[in-house]
Amino acid sequence: MKSTVIGFPRIGLHRELKFATESFFKGESGAEQLLEQARKLRIAHWQLQEQSGLDLIPVGDFSLYDNVLDTVLLLGLVPERYKALNLNDLGTYFAMARGYQGQAGDVKALSMKKWFDTNYHYIVPELEDGMQVTLHADNLLSQLEEATGAVKAALRVDLIGPFTFLKLAHCTGTKKAADFSAALADAYAQLLSKLQGKAAWISFDEPALVTDLTPADLSLLHSLYIAILPAKGNLKVLCQTYFGDIRDSYAEVALKLPFDGVGLDFVAGRRSFELIERDPLPKDKVLFAGLVNGRNIWRNRYENTLNTLRRLSSLSSEVVLSSSCSLLHVPLSLSEESKFGAEIKKHFAFACEKLTELNELKTLAAAADPGAVAAFRDNTALFTGERFTPNTQVAQKLAQVSAADFHRTPARVERQKLQKAEFKLPPLPTTTIGSFPQTALVRKERADFKHGRLNQEQYEQALRSHITDCIRLQEDIGLDVLVHGEFERNDMVEYFGEKLDGYLFSQNGWVQSYGTRCVKPPLIWGDIARVRPLSVEWSVFAQSQTKKIVKGMLTGPVTMLNWSFPREDISLKDSTMQLALAIREEVLDLEAHGIRIIQIDEAALREKLPLRQEDWHSEYLDWAIPAFRFVSSGVKSTTQIHTHMCYSEFNNIIKDIDDMDADVITFEASRSDLTVVDALKAAHFETEVGPGVYDIHSPRIPSVEEIVAVLKRILAKLPMEKVWVNPDCGLKTRGNQETEPSLRHLVAAARQVREGL
Ligand code: GLN
Ligand code: ZN
Repeated sequence: MKSTVIGFPRIGLHRELKFATESFFKGESGAEQLLEQARKLRIAHWQLQEQSGLDLIPVGDFSLYDNVLDTVLLLGLVPERYKALNLNDLGTYFAMARGYQGQAGDVKALSMKKWFDTNYHYIVPELEDGMQVTLHADNLLSQLEEATGAVKAALRVDLIGPFTFLKLAHCTGTKKAADFSAALADAYAQLLSKLQGKAAWISFDEPALVTDLTPADLSLLHSLYIAILPAKGNLKVLCQTYFGDIRDSYAEVALKLPFDGVGLDFVAGRRSFELIERDPLPKDKVLFAGLVNGRNIWRNRYENTLNTLRRLSSLSSEVVLSSSCSLLHVPLSLSEESKFGAEIKKHFAFACEKLTELNELKTLAAAADPGAVAAFRDNTALFTGERFTPNTQVAQKLAQVSAADFHRTPARVERQKLQKAEFKLPPLPTTTIGSFPQTALVRKERADFKHGRLNQEQYEQALRSHITDCIRLQEDIGLDVLVHGEFERNDMVEYFGEKLDGYLFSQNGWVQSYGTRCVKPPLIWGDIARVRPLSVEWSVFAQSQTKKIVKGMLTGPVTMLNWSFPREDISLKDSTMQLALAIREEVLDLEAHGIRIIQIDEAALREKLPLRQEDWHSEYLDWAIPAFRFVSSGVKSTTQIHTHMCYSEFNNIIKDIDDMDADVITFEASRSDLTVVDALKAAHFETEVGPGVYDIHSPRIPSVEEIVAVLKRILAKLPMEKVWVNPDCGLKTRGNQETEPSLRHLVAAARQVREGL
């Protein structure tokens, strides 16, 4: 049996690629240095994969910024406005990635979207009516040459497949994606000819096949590959899928089209096994079996994997053992995690350790008696012993939860009346989303505290002084509902994770989120429990500084889960309920300490919405929404619960969002052109809403007139008593210089509109 991976992290153990790229952006180093760093990383990673025993090594999975953007260049699909800048290839590439402002012109970046249900963002290709597809394979061919020189193992060229590319592309003119299919197929066919004799395999990544497909999609898929595959010559061609199963296209991909290999995800693909069992692959096709999870950091359970492998081998003529998706979604190596003891570390596998797992599994699959091999016995032991002491108190509390705990009383319409009487806020109340600018000073103080240069008392004193200033500023601006500013938080998940029992934090567990941006998701290790207050002292202090109402500010359970590496020994639902219990206790504690409005952010709720609509409820919303309700259902009817989401594409889950039973929701709206407001109206949305009236992602200061205009558009659709006025997200990434005038304009606009009512 052979082994491979779908792709490898490229950022480097010490984020070398990030720093080299950022230094290039700042003009501190030249293109040569950046390209040299990139080359070094590629070579090191290929050699690492070879030394770890991989038989088939991917080439083309590397990228300076994003693979979809690389594909745009490969196919010569650069939009006119970037071509017009007349920059060199690298300049054009980064202009599309991040925008360009300089002598050659002023152009914004292409837009960015989440890559399926991950936290990786790809650049959205644009297809313009007049575009010609032209192949530019030099870069890819030179990487292939590099790899040929660097390793002896067989090579596989990995490309974003044409179907997925067209599904993700945005058409700017009158043409549809399918109108580009013939030209695209032609370019891919030319590429196959160029690769003859240079690689063993070529892989088309087609994750779009795990989403719901229409008959038109299937015919697009068919027409693309029927045109491309005749050019394959001596190359073997793999159709690689991941993030789910390919139930709609299995017959086409696995049985009809002349691929030499089919890659299926047996981790996220619930029906992958069933598909292959019912209709095994034809004898001449190789099954690439994604069995080592590319999206989580836990050790693979060899016993289960070997069982599946055995069954798959009996159904197929050849099986190649693989990762379930690219390893891009996990950190590179455990080697830097000096703070985790051996007892903890042995349970984790980052990308490098996954290579070792693949190699061990390959050996074990060939062994007559795997049980006699130490690697197998050690692995089995990981799953039989008790990893941590279960928290029986948490289990008991959750066992006592009853149906009533998921429902707030009285009904929301009643609560809204009571709350209006309680708070006596003006119509169109103004507020913010929570954080205020994290200035250089705030960040320096946190770093000083972390490194012992400030003691606890000094640090807390500094925080109190920021809070007081922030309250004074908000009073002066004239906002109605104030916030404490979140100066104590580095990150909305990490801050709470650090205070809760059950979380672990890696030192170097970076995962690429987009371009040079990396995140370090915390790890849910054990039972989550609230063993101390999380935010009470800061909210209480802030409230003591003003007669106005200060909102308490928490991160919701679903967002906590979605931005962490979750446990695999209990369900996501059970983990979420543990988080929900902890946050519920905090909500009640805040209320007991006189906090009358509490915001529970669910910034990432939509992120893990299943890729197939039939799974939306049963696999996700049916527990995610109740978990939120459980957090907030214990408060008095006059305590107002807010939530916040960093997007407004909830048109198709609008009922579910309303079912969270919050009293108020604020969300991003400026970029989506307020179309969500129509959807809210159509759905008879009950929750009061604060569609963001300006975009905080830009340093631009919105004028009073602009905000008035936005408010008028909102009020044309929604009743005034349901509308709040706020920016569209937290202000932590902004500077004070734009924040203060923007908020003054916001308040002035709200007052102006109120007077007109
Ligand atoms: N309350 C958080 C803040 O204001 C919300 C952040 C977010 O939506 N991502 O920063
Ligand atoms: Zn937000």
